[in-house]
Amino acid sequence: MPANAIVDRFRRPLRNLRISVTDRCNLRCRYCMPEAEYVWLPRRDLLTFEEISTLTDVFVSLGVDKVRVTGGEPLLRRDLPDLVGMLAGKGLRDLAMTTNGVLLADNVEALRAAGLGRVTVSLDTMRAERSKTLSQRSTHSSVLAGLASIAPAGFTGTKIDTVAMRGVNDDELVDLIEFGRTVPAEVRFIEYMDVGGATTWSPDLVLSRADMLARLGEHYGTITPLRNTDAAPADRFELPDGTTFGIVSSTTQPFCATCDRSRLTADGMWFRCLYAVEGTNLRDPLRDGASFEEMRSLITGKWEAREDRGAVERLAERDRMPFIPLATLKSNPHLEMHTRGG
Ligand code: SAM
Ligand code: SF4
Ligand code: SF4
Repeated sequence: MPANAIVDRFRRPLRNLRISVTDRCNLRCRYCMPEAEYVWLPRRDLLTFEEISTLTDVFVSLGVDKVRVTGGEPLLRRDLPDLVGMLAGKGLRDLAMTTNGVLLADNVEALRAAGLGRVTVSLDTMRAERSKTLSQRSTHSSVLAGLASIAPAGFTGTKIDTVAMRGVNDDELVDLIEFGRTVPAEVRFIEYMDVGGATTWSPDLVLSRADMLARLGEHYGTITPLRNTDAAPADRFELPDGTTFGIVSSTTQPFCATCDRSRLTADGMWFRCLYAVEGTNLRDPLRDGASFEEMRSLITGKWEAREDRGAVERLAERDRMPFIPLATLKSNPHLEMHTRGG
């Protein structure tokens, strides 16, 4: 742990910051944005790149050494490589981006040149028709083109994030791993979470880590768990031929005990848990001229008071339903997964 790292009530350091650069998206994934209409953050509230950079400096001074740029769809934010360039100059251990891949091929070289370290692409299916049903858009070929552009641009450490859902894409686990080999990218299967925005979530749709391992074991034979070397949420596994993959069992076996991540929305709200219903407005004090030290002490105080264990608490609920009702989401877009950045 870095000497400057602050810790919360459960001695979890603040090391990982996910920066959402926009709440808008060009897809409408059923598990994230299933509704026909959304309330967007007012444009005047969006942090400028300079403001994001300043806040990142404050977070870095408190121990953050991993930053992930996300959204909504981050590539909808104009001139994103400029922001990446600013973040790349901060000496981070890891600077990554999560994207749906639709606009990636056109931007990949500029992102690499700007200093982006790694790319994660969300891909739930290898089938164009199924992709259309799942994302409510016909963009599958662009996503595949985006994935094909990553390695030629010089990136390594690429990941594919797949939300695995029972009866939806659970027959494609092997196909996705096989495709991942060709990218090359390590596939991470994410259990379907009942986060804000997942208004059509139901426990019946959750494909558990145990189920995933059973299905993959049937096809590949022995699957060996790998030792987790950091606080990354994915448990990693190895197939007999050495191919690796991950499972993020956020729903059935949450990893809150080691959670070192927090999230900054595009309009400067800071959330210390994916399930937190309240965040801290960092934009207003910044715009009101708060000093670096004042911002540091605001963030320090909130992190030191952090007790969030959202997914663990959800696990204890009986008769689980979607976490936030639709009417509440409409009155508070900050509760949406696409606003928080996943
Ligand atoms: N638009 C980009 C993308 O899709 O990669 C970045 C933002 S998206 C909110 C970040 C991640 O959240 C994606 O990998 C997506 O699969 C995941 N996600 C969204 N809703 C989810 C849910 N209900 N359960 C599990 N993962 C979810
Ligand atoms: Fe899908 Fe990402 Fe857009 Fe959500 S933000 S709808 S996960 S592409
Ligand atoms: Fe961290 Fe909250 Fe997710 Fe638990 S539910 S892993 S505390 S963000």
